Amino acid sequence: MSRGLLMVVSGPSGTGKGTVCGELLAQTPELAYSISATTRKPREGEVDGKNYYFMDKAQFEKMIEEGGFLEYANVYGNYYGTPLGKIEERLAAGEDILLEIDTQGALNVMKKCPDGLFIFLLPPSIGELERRIRGRGSETAESLAKRLGAAKEEIAIGRKYGYVVVNDTVKRAVERIKSIMVAEHCRVDKN
Ligand code: 5GP
Repeated sequence: MSRGLLMVVSGPSGTGKGTVCGELLAQTPELAYSISATTRKPREGEVDGKNYYFMDKAQFEKMIEEGGFLEYANVYGNYYGTPLGKIEERLAAGEDILLEIDTQGALNVMKKCPDGLFIFLLPPSIGELERRIRGRGSETAESLAKRLGAAKEEIAIGRKYGYVVVNDTVKRAVERIKSIMVAEHCRVDKN
């Protein structure tokens, strides 16, 4: 039984990470999604325990103190973190696990788990990114500017990832990621 892939997907806000990861999960039943914890308020339609574990700041900070996170970060003024859960045991049992997290968190996972598969998703252009964030309609002018500024910084960090995938269309982005996963599973372990 080969070890599962710890797969980390990041990309600027509005890149379409959520859509691409959702489609990838739908097409890859053997891939498990790691549900993050966050202190941000649920958006319309989001379900606790499915999209995120929604918690308050005190609960989140208690979990940090107890060493309950593989990584966590403060993103746009809210905490987000990957619960440690049974990630190590699940990887050892051959399960592939998907983490959809920001670049700060991913850089921490790179240090802890250098064998992970790190994929950075890019929008076709910054103009397209702005159009997508605006189209979501949930941002104020201030939070839009914040997210666009962070996006430009994040794109520079993308060079540290093992793979960069352009999300020109969801279908093509998902195909590329699935190909990368197949290649990673065929990789010879040199250790
Ligand atoms: P959103 O509020 O749009 O759901 O997510 C905002 C950002 O937080 C996104 O870049 C998302 O990838 C990131 N994020 C979600 N969960 C986690 C997590 O567990 N850890 C970290 N570091 N970032 C996360």
